Amino acid sequence: MTESTNLNIAVVGAGPGGYAAAFLAADLGMTVTLIDPEVNPGGVCLYRGCIPSKALLHVAKLIEESHQAKDWGIEFASPKIDLARLRSFKENVVKKLTGGLGVLSKQRKIHYVKGRAEFENSTTLQVTKSNGSQESLSFDKIILATGSRPAIVPALKLDTPRMMDSTGALNLEDIPGTLLVVGGGYIGLELGSVYAALGTRVTVVEMLPGLLPGADRDLVLPLHKRLEKMFDGIRLNTTVASVQDEGNGIRATLKAQDGTTQEKLFDRVLVSVGRKPNSEIPGIEKTRAQVGERGFIQVNKQLQTDDPDVYAIGDVVGEPMLAHKASHEGRTAVEAIAGHKVAFEPNAIPAVVFTDPELAWCGLTETQAQNENREVKVVKFPWAASGRAITLDRPEGMTKILFDPQTERVLGVGIVGAGAGEMIAEGVLAIEMAALARDVALTIHPHPTLSETVMESAEVFFGTSTHIYRPKRG
Ligand SMILES: Cc1cc2nc3c(=O)[nH]c(=O)nc-3n(C[C@H](O)[C@H](O)[C@H](O)COP(=O)(O)OP(=O)(O)OC[C@H]3O[C@@H](n4cnc5c(N)ncnc54)[C@H](O)[C@@H]3O)c2cc1C
Repeated sequence: MTESTNLNIAVVGAGPGGYAAAFLAADLGMTVTLIDPEVNPGGVCLYRGCIPSKALLHVAKLIEESHQAKDWGIEFASPKIDLARLRSFKENVVKKLTGGLGVLSKQRKIHYVKGRAEFENSTTLQVTKSNGSQESLSFDKIILATGSRPAIVPALKLDTPRMMDSTGALNLEDIPGTLLVVGGGYIGLELGSVYAALGTRVTVVEMLPGLLPGADRDLVLPLHKRLEKMFDGIRLNTTVASVQDEGNGIRATLKAQDGTTQEKLFDRVLVSVGRKPNSEIPGIEKTRAQVGERGFIQVNKQLQTDDPDVYAIGDVVGEPMLAHKASHEGRTAVEAIAGHKVAFEPNAIPAVVFTDPELAWCGLTETQAQNENREVKVVKFPWAASGRAITLDRPEGMTKILFDPQTERVLGVGIVGAGAGEMIAEGVLAIEMAALARDVALTIHPHPTLSETVMESAEVFFGTSTHIYRPKRG
């Protein structure tokens, strides 16, 4: 394939998928137009997703640690919360990062258009700018990066600010006395943790038998135990059958699996039951791009749709709906357009839940291995045997590695514990580099760090972990 960087391309949507694609295209010498309704690039991730939630979770962790400090002989007074200041801290974080992206976009001479795009045909977009003016622009290739939005449950639709989606919850209008979180996925648990730390009595309702359905149960357990202490209640196998606005609160009917119901009044309700792809791009039917049953735009491994001139990336093309997946897809699409021989086929995409403790995993999970009847050797290193975990007074964590018993290759890594989200990248690298148990065990890790638990897990594979005694057989 010949390299073709002298192209004029458009990227629709400036989230982590869209702006990563646009920036790489500009770096490769393409002429780039990036279209998004916001004043600067950032998308859901920076404006109302990853970044504001993590700023608030940082504060939540500080509050929780200040309570725990009592056990270490230090007692702080109850925190006084200045909500306006907390909100402005979060908003400044968003402004700083999105503003920075705006500068990077200008430096790369990207034509940034604040507006919304619709298709006239496969290579022509009609852009409606924020001032109402319209412009028709033609390109060699178009990349769709339109992202996703919160899923709506019709039975839980009420026209009152007491009913919130993740965007509403991040606005932090007040600290409600009570909050019902519908959905025990990562967004519900992260935002529930923020409100609980600020003093709200939080109830989580999940229709499945466990929180965080995608994660292994043994990893979820320590988190579940801690959340049980933080939250007013965690109701599994339960659905919210209906909600009613009673003026002074929302009356919710909780329905358990056995059919029993309970009514409870909540100050606010957060509905976090998943996200829906923004694939209803006006005029998309004028292209050959196809939208599949679950609403995702269909693409091949080069992120090309059924229309050779249209590519699509990020949340709008499928799970996992995560920012880093979107960015990597964006860069792959641009390279494919440039004529490089590339494919998006990662061996591991990390998932992180930024609760306290954090939960992170990548590659094969134990549940997946069981479901696929796949033979794996699972080793676990409990953090109660980690010097660093003990210094942090956080012994409840665990590091787990799945190995191929024949080749001794690392197939999957799961970590629960403080800082698991930072540690999981080592697991991703090990999987992508086809590392063997010996490679991980022989890699000298700094002491005392939680990262040593990865090395010691690999030592457990050989039955020779320094900090775990294994009685000899026979
Ligand atoms: C509360 C919350 C917390 C999250 N936390 C994390 C996290 O910690 N880590 C993580 O990896 N992921 C997290 N996510 C998910 C993450 O935000 C998404 O996976 C990511 O933003 C997807 O990127 P994207 O580029 O596909 O699209 P998006 O970020 O959704 O951006 C799409 C952009 O396209 C624009 N757009 C749509 N249609 C048009 C059109 N016709 N014309 C022009 N522009 C258009 C939209 O307005 C938007 O700005 C979180 C999400 C939420 C809601």
